[in-house]
Amino acid sequence: MNELNDQINQIKNQFFDQLQETRTEAELFQVEKNFLGKKSGPVTQLLKKLSELPPEERPKWGQSVNELKKLLELELAQKRQNLVNTDEPQLWWDYTLDKFAVGRGHWHPISLVLKDMVNFFASMGFEVAQGPEVETEFYNFDALNIPSNHPARDVWDTFYLKTGEVLRTHTSSVQIRTLMQRTPPLRVISPGRCFRYEEVDATHLAVFNQMEGLMIDKNICLSDLKGILHKAIEFIFGNSLKTRFRPAFYPFVEPGLDLDCQCIFCGGSGCSVCKQTGWIELIPCGMVHPNVIRNCGHDPEVYRGFAFGMGFDRIVMLRYGINDMRLLYKGDLNVLSQF
Ligand SMILES: [Zn+2]
Repeated sequence: MNELNDQINQIKNQFFDQLQETRTEAELFQVEKNFLGKKSGPVTQLLKKLSELPPEERPKWGQSVNELKKLLELELAQKRQNLVNTDEPQLWWDYTLDKFAVGRGHWHPISLVLKDMVNFFASMGFEVAQGPEVETEFYNFDALNIPSNHPARDVWDTFYLKTGEVLRTHTSSVQIRTLMQRTPPLRVISPGRCFRYEEVDATHLAVFNQMEGLMIDKNICLSDLKGILHKAIEFIFGNSLKTRFRPAFYPFVEPGLDLDCQCIFCGGSGCSVCKQTGWIELIPCGMVHPNVIRNCGHDPEVYRGFAFGMGFDRIVMLRYGINDMRLLYKGDLNVLSQF
């Protein structure tokens, strides 16, 4: 056992010598490793010798080594505390380390355009209306002049739930909810997520954003719709974007129109994004069908108005020159940090 005491004293002396010269955290780690290292530290070596000793000597040996270990740990902790509290911070802080880069957050391009659109339509007297994403067939189809046996219903590849409800295929359902609850005149926009069983490609997604607009009053006509949409396009894209209206069929409007804009990617000469047509379909719209107004409990002889449904993601693509809609939803910071 005398041999053990000699060894312990030797370790202590070496330890305190090294500890006294320690000035930085890195040096302190090295001292800790030198003496308490699990592989080759002297304390570990002493513990390993335990198995070679006669059984009667083992408890005393084990106790002495454990006491040594506790002492060293205590001294190391004390020294670490002293280093933190020292008046000479340069001993503690390593100023050559790189600073941690803290990135700033960004608005998502969809949120940016949404904010602009809401501001624009608010300036025209529109308010924001919202509705549920899980809808009944009545709000999503029937009330919009699309009864269940109507062939037009196939146009919307719909997700049906086991409950018989649907994931809304457009925000036009909010148009119905608003018209049923309120008495015209009214002006609302309803941005929100919509769902269709679509094959996903550069310009189609199964989950996408749409913004419905609705204006109902006694003397609304097609020129009001054209004027407001032209102003909206001008507001989002500036004057440079060419647009055109062309007739289209949607069961809930009569007459129905599509507002197209000239393809910004090819300037109208034809490319894969515009499917070689030079035009991109942007806003389906039209005068609200008399049946829809009647279904919502109002007299179509008194009230009329227009509705439009903007494919919101498409507007974001065109505004920022993004040629693949999927980029908007990948959460890729290389893309998002540009906004
Ligand atoms: Zn094009």
